[in-house]
Amino acid sequence: MAESALFESRIRLSGKVKQRPQGTAQQQYEARQRAFMTITPFTFNPFSTNCYLVESAGELVVVDPSNQSEEEHKRLIEEIEGREATLKRILLTHAHIDHIFGCARLSDHFNVGIEVHASERVLLQRGEVQASMFGVELESPPEPVATIEPGSSITFGDVVWDVLHTPGHSPGSVSFVDHDARLVIAGDVLFAGSIGRTDLWQGSLPVLMESIFSQLVPLGDDFRVLPGHGPETTMGRERTSNPFLVGHAPIG
Ligand SMILES: [Zn+2]
Ligand SMILES: [Zn+2]
Repeated sequence: MAESALFESRIRLSGKVKQRPQGTAQQQYEARQRAFMTITPFTFNPFSTNCYLVESAGELVVVDPSNQSEEEHKRLIEEIEGREATLKRILLTHAHIDHIFGCARLSDHFNVGIEVHASERVLLQRGEVQASMFGVELESPPEPVATIEPGSSITFGDVVWDVLHTPGHSPGSVSFVDHDARLVIAGDVLFAGSIGRTDLWQGSLPVLMESIFSQLVPLGDDFRVLPGHGPETTMGRERTSNPFLVGHAPIG
């Protein structure tokens, strides 16, 4: 936990605090908490997949529960239970096996359903096939309780995220965009110095490049990118130095 705390981001949500908080010390503390979103990243399982625990105003969301081992389950569950906040949603950027290992355990433990784009349902249902392909074990994930719709908003606490459909790595890959905090949780679409693989089921390199250039690059160079694997980066750094993006002519 100490390791994840090092990288924890505390992000002020713009425009949320218009004046000095009034009231008792406790009320002022609560007002300050409401004005922030915190993002705690974890890296779990043999594929080193990032899981993000995001907190705002007493509400928590997990993006990509990649916890696989008993120790990882315990670490994430204890972290959530240690917060003065309630887990509200479990969101998947996509349903490749390395992003869904912890769905069953987390969903059962907190009685919170999982949410995924409709085009990923097949992958989710075939979790065990994916597991045997990669020679790993998987507790079958539950059926999703909701479908993540591109163009809709994900809300919790004081946070509003836009949902972008960014296919190419998988058919129903989505990215969560926080315009207040100027960051995007991009799953396996774009990495620091690399891009998602396109050789898995319904992957497509042209489609992936189109997603990156038409959906992510226009967000702006200052946007932080929190990827599904590896360290965070910025859109500007990737636009100007990622070998897969530099010199690439967008496909019309
Ligand atoms: Zn993936
Ligand atoms: Zn992945």
